[in-house]
Amino acid sequence: MGCYLSADPTSHLPIHPPTHSPMPTAIINWDNFVTALGGIAVIRDRPQVEKLSKDYYHFSPVLQAQLADKCADLVVCPTSETEVLTVAKACVEAKVPLTVRGAGTGNYGQCIPLEGGVILDLSRMNAVKSVQPGLAIVEPGAKLAAIDKITRPQGWELRMYPSTYRTATIGGFIGGGSGGIGSITYGQLSDRGNLNAVRVVTLEDRPRVIELRGDAVQQVNHGYGTNGIITELEIPLGPTYPWAEVIVSFDDFMTAARFGQVLGESDGLIKKLISIHAWPIPEYFVALQSYLPKGKAAALLIIAEPSMALFEELAQAWGGTITYAKGRQTRGKAPL
Ligand SMILES: Cc1cc2nc3c(=O)[nH]c(=O)nc-3n(C[C@H](O)[C@H](O)[C@H](O)COP(=O)(O)OP(=O)(O)OC[C@H]3O[C@@H](n4cnc5c(N)ncnc54)[C@H](O)[C@@H]3O)c2cc1C
Repeated sequence: MGCYLSADPTSHLPIHPPTHSPMPTAIINWDNFVTALGGIAVIRDRPQVEKLSKDYYHFSPVLQAQLADKCADLVVCPTSETEVLTVAKACVEAKVPLTVRGAGTGNYGQCIPLEGGVILDLSRMNAVKSVQPGLAIVEPGAKLAAIDKITRPQGWELRMYPSTYRTATIGGFIGGGSGGIGSITYGQLSDRGNLNAVRVVTLEDRPRVIELRGDAVQQVNHGYGTNGIITELEIPLGPTYPWAEVIVSFDDFMTAARFGQVLGESDGLIKKLISIHAWPIPEYFVALQSYLPKGKAAALLIIAEPSMALFEELAQAWGGTITYAKGRQTRGKAPL
């Protein structure tokens, strides 16, 4: 959520919520502020600023009432870490709040500015700088699907991703996400080893760039951008597989749940998603209705194609009926 980034000189990285009150943004001379940015791209067009001040907060009726009128004064779109540092310095100097934004798909208002000020839109910092076996160095605005597109031909892919895979950025996923498809194998983003290192621009009295490595990354992992701006990430990758999307139907929910548990614990069977649903939840998956028999529980799964034969045996042993199975070759699209 919108934040004031503040210094805590006693720690390596300020990790506490703001301690000082910002000055009202109404007294800021925004023309002077923009001039101080020295040519960094700025958006001041009101409808655009309003759009970029919002995320998917409207999923919540509670937040809808609280955040609908929140809006930044302007949006700044840096293209490099040097530019981020310049913006950070300008915000500290002018004492204006700064809210970091990736793609704005967070669904509880994490990147909505509560007190106006600057939205720092990092979507233009989207380079995949390097890919090595099991490792990529990326800029924060790189979209998750775009990263996979580059790493997959080399045999590697993101270990996990949210449902917003095609639009979300890696910086936003680390800043505000928690896990998703792939977590059945690799755990949550906050689990040790799922983020190697980050470069961060601080908003101390004298903003600077620091590098956090190892457990120190946890200071900004899921920090909602409240204590630093991530400008580069070193992320671990997993081996890529041809993936099959599968739906298995079960007569009752508990059998489906136990099947899911056994599948989850079968370490040798490579999978990326186990999602078990009691009826009537499957009724809401409108596009999949022809594969979801009425009144039955459903398991939505992503299984590595080399594991499919064993998987089919397991599903059969638990009385499941495979109603849908589609692999990469036949799908013609990237995985779910
Ligand atoms: C339908 C739907 C399904 C979703 N499914 C999942 C899911 O399965 N798993 C999951 O974890 N999330 C899920 N989400 C939430 C969200 O889409 C993801 O977490 C996504 O990765 C956020 O990325 P983003 O680029 O949109 O981030 P944003 O929404 O732009 O930002 C998210 C947070 O990170 C901060 N931030 C962004 N960039 C940086 C940066 N460079 N440095 C520091 N802080 C930064 C922002 O200030 C904000 O607090 C879902 C959302 C929707 C709407």
